[in-house]
Amino acid sequence: MLKAIYGTKDVLPKDVEKWNFLESTIKNIFASFNYKEIRTPLLEETGLFSRSIGEETDIVSKEMYTFQDRSETSITLRPEMTASVVRAFLEHSLSSQSSLNKLFYIAAMFRQERPQAGRFRQFHQFGAEVLGSSSPLLDAEIIILAYTILKSLGLVDITVKINSLGITSSRKVYLEILKEYLESHLNELSEESRKRFEKNVLRIFDSKFENDIQIMKDAPKLIDHLDDESKQEFQVVQNILRSEQIPFLLDSSLVRGLDYYSKTTFEIVSDKVGSQSALCGGGRYDGLIELLGGTPNYGVGFAAGIERILLALQNEKTKLPDNSSLDLYVVLLNKELLNEYYLFATALRKNHLKVEIDYLSRSVKAQMREANKLRAKFVALFGGEEYAENKVVLKNMGTSVQQVLPLENADKEILLSVGS
Ligand code: AMP
Repeated sequence: MLKAIYGTKDVLPKDVEKWNFLESTIKNIFASFNYKEIRTPLLEETGLFSRSIGEETDIVSKEMYTFQDRSETSITLRPEMTASVVRAFLEHSLSSQSSLNKLFYIAAMFRQERPQAGRFRQFHQFGAEVLGSSSPLLDAEIIILAYTILKSLGLVDITVKINSLGITSSRKVYLEILKEYLESHLNELSEESRKRFEKNVLRIFDSKFENDIQIMKDAPKLIDHLDDESKQEFQVVQNILRSEQIPFLLDSSLVRGLDYYSKTTFEIVSDKVGSQSALCGGGRYDGLIELLGGTPNYGVGFAAGIERILLALQNEKTKLPDNSSLDLYVVLLNKELLNEYYLFATALRKNHLKVEIDYLSRSVKAQMREANKLRAKFVALFGGEEYAENKVVLKNMGTSVQQVLPLENADKEILLSVGS
């Protein structure tokens, strides 16, 4: 039997309701902060990601879906959105149209990782990218937005972790101090971390090996070596978060290994999702636009994983709104009225009622069973003696109260009844 590709999954109708709820909540909150949606192609030239995400990262070195197309161009299915958004920003000179661009997206991403709960090969992220301002107000706003969305979706057990990476020059000085400390522990570090020591020493903070974690606990912290500007802006961010009553933890091990990251970095984790606990991550990336060939400009953003949020909601036993019930099921009593039956339902559908009918020539009893199964609020009994008198019976399935309505204005009466 043909199956979906390993690590990808179908979202079946019973779950699409949840996705729609998530997506509409996300869009409403972005709208209230005046963020504009951007959509970019799934496919990009591979160089975009290898330059921006970095050759040494797991994403670029192991996880990208990369192939040669028929004209021998190396193409990659996007593994994240920041690079694509910045590419579009530069390609369409968005900064000349508006000096500040506040953008958001909801889109599919692709990474060939080992699938497990909360980790897929095709997954979906929503996120924001703000291009054009260095204001720490935006660093705070990005965190507030992510937190507000997660809370509005119903999540309770979440923790915000923040850190500041300073600017490249202060980080360079710190990296030497860190290397000096690690030199005396090189033999104790895992092989992976020893490699990182050579290539990208900051990433040793991301190590999952217990021994490495212990060694990094005593390492000098980047936060203690910040430049004055970053220090002061980090205070502004924290003050805003406190005023907005957003609880957060300072986490000095929250690092991003690439040079273009600067200042604020943050993560929101769920306390209810096993090992894949990160729901959302983001921060400032003031060097990226220049790295991708643009005039130096500022950027800050975040990305959150939809599948992981759904898993966290499920583990927290959060009930999501359910709009799957029907307004009305029309039961056909006499098969010879098929045409009139269909027209009756269609007229109600044109009035935006959610109406279902029988397409399977079922018995009246089976149609009533179906109406119950579909959780119809009302059932109309179409046909029989009432039809002969130009009438139709409307039954309220909640109260079992029945009304007999004249056919000619049944639609108006039904609209009134369903609406009340
Ligand atoms: P990242 O782009 O790696 O910073 O990831 C941002 C968010 O996307 C994470 O916090 C996760 O919620 C989600 N995410 C990343 N990779 C995956 C994946 N393979 N499967 C599902 N969600 C993912």
